[in-house]
Amino acid sequence: MPRPSKHHRPARPLSASFGRVDVKRDGEWVLRTISGSQATKEYRCPGCGITISPGVPHVVTWPRVPAIGTTATVDERRHWHTACWGRRP
Ligand SMILES: [Zn+2]
Repeated sequence: MPRPSKHHRPARPLSASFGRVDVKRDGEWVLRTISGSQATKEYRCPGCGITISPGVPHVVTWPRVPAIGTTATVDERRHWHTACWGRRP
């Protein structure tokens, strides 16, 4: 029995290996958990504006669908404190 294909070609391999999708007020966001050992750089959390220090487990998110006019969502990745992301509407 033929089934509609859910496959589409991702713009970057990053998009193909996401963990899960979170639905927020402004759309669907791919969410990946970063462990402490994976966190090697400083990031500024958009939720609270406080720096996420290296070694701190957190989440990285990007839009599931690229913004209009772009082909990749890689540049739209944002690093959030896990708790701040959870509070995001
Ligand atoms: Zn935060």
